[in-house]
Amino acid sequence: MSFWFGVLVGVAGMGAAVWAVRGQAPVLPGPPDPVKTPPRAYSWTEQPPPVFPIPPYARFLKGVSIVLDPGHVGQQDPGGTWKRGPTGLREAEVNLRVALFLREFLEAAEARVVLTREREESLNLPDDEDLRRRAAVANERHADLLLSIHHNADNDPRPNFTTLFYHAAPDQSAAGLCAARYLLAGLDDALRLDKQIECAVLSDRVLHKNGLAVLREAEVPAVLSEASFHSNPQEEARLRDPAYNRREAYGLFLGLARWAQAGLPRIALAQAGAARAGQDVVVTLDDGLGSRGGWGADATQISAAAVVVRLDGKPAHYTFDAGKRQVHVSLPKALHEGRHELFVDFENIFGQHVLHPALGVEVGKP
Ligand SMILES: [Zn+2]
Repeated sequence: MSFWFGVLVGVAGMGAAVWAVRGQAPVLPGPPDPVKTPPRAYSWTEQPPPVFPIPPYARFLKGVSIVLDPGHVGQQDPGGTWKRGPTGLREAEVNLRVALFLREFLEAAEARVVLTREREESLNLPDDEDLRRRAAVANERHADLLLSIHHNADNDPRPNFTTLFYHAAPDQSAAGLCAARYLLAGLDDALRLDKQIECAVLSDRVLHKNGLAVLREAEVPAVLSEASFHSNPQEEARLRDPAYNRREAYGLFLGLARWAQAGLPRIALAQAGAARAGQDVVVTLDDGLGSRGGWGADATQISAAAVVVRLDGKPAHYTFDAGKRQVHVSLPKALHEGRHELFVDFENIFGQHVLHPALGVEVGKP
């Protein structure tokens, strides 16, 4: 139904142009033939009707912990002119509207959602402290994802494209990168911008040597979205419209629902209590798919070649048991007493990485 409505709106638009030229009411030719209309006869940038249904695959978001960070909300703006579009639209107010709409969608899918800021009131913090606190909200909750919502700007009024940023190097942000890919696809479909750059998922190091503070400070998977440019006059006009903000939120939501559908891998220590130097530590691997049950749940969904195990940052000796979905990590005999970091990452068949790959292992007296 929505398809036909979109087609009719499109045809009506074309009809209006004909009417303006000829000075008489147009004769609508009816909807384009769905079999014979050539692909180039449709317009990509023309938006379909604003309807926002919850798809069945959004059920995989149930219980997933997501922190939404509306950029610049509550941040210092001494001159009152900071981060504004050509006619004064503030980036912060757009970011907040998108975040609130996105929370509504995510909560409808029973995700656990927290916003770093919910209201436009100045917290009067120095910027570095402000950004650190945003990341801390996600770190304290051990969130499955921190999504910082922004809109881009340039001195040149022309650019308008989508970019998703991850922190530092791909290996350091593997799980966040997985989310970024799905978020990009969701935004592409929702905003229908007429241009995309060559690679729209980028390291934050292309902006600053040390990356972006909110991503750098995050100890959980984190992505920063720059959906479009509020410095572009046409885009600024669209961003003023709450219905357009809701389209953007819906695009992010569908991206997150597809990300969750692809499985969110997790790991855990198989035994409680202290480990012993010279013995094995067993880590159970949840690929995020088999644990759901259903058809094929017994099949291995983990690529053995993509298993990475490090102890205190160095490659560790381990064996991978695909059937039991476990890795057995051999602790060196000389390992000192106390706490050590065990890092276990892998990819499931969707290429999804472990959300929280670092475990603390307590090594007791030999
Ligand atoms: Zn921003």
